[in-house]
Amino acid sequence: MLQYLIFQRKNVEQTLSIIKPDAVKQGFESQINERFEKSELRIVKQKKLHLTKEEAENFYAVHKERPFFNALVAYMTSGEVIVQVLEGENAVMRNREIMGATDPKAAAPGTIRKDFGQSIEANAVHGSDSLENATNEIKFFFGD
Ligand code: GDP
Repeated sequence: MLQYLIFQRKNVEQTLSIIKPDAVKQGFESQINERFEKSELRIVKQKKLHLTKEEAENFYAVHKERPFFNALVAYMTSGEVIVQVLEGENAVMRNREIMGATDPKAAAPGTIRKDFGQSIEANAVHGSDSLENATNEIKFFFGD
């Protein structure tokens, strides 16, 4: 019975977050981390790094054909980023909700991108958009 209750209680997931160069440069790291903590998303792994061009191109390979691809790679390699694994109940969708829409201008009040983003490109954070992508993105940065 106890086992049953434990299994029913939570759908604990992990998702990948990146605090992007604009937000790192402006010192928003701790304020963004507070948003995760308030939403019960625990930072279980974290590292600061400067992406190489090749890493950024590989990470965003799905956007290769988009007109903004080269600009996106240049932006993501323009400074340090903080790559994080967040863990919590329904972490993937919960993080997408608190991040807000891609374009900070269109993001809901109180979301991270609304409060800390500069533009549709320099929008403060990345967050995996599905459980499958979360698994792949976590592997990309942290291995198995
Ligand atoms: P996300 O899942 O909300 O991050 O959005 P996407 O997967 O569609 O885009 C990936 C990233 O590319 C975004 O977070 C932005 O940094 C950048 N991006 C998206 N759309 C545009 C655009 O129209 N112009 C530019 N310059 N960058 C964009």
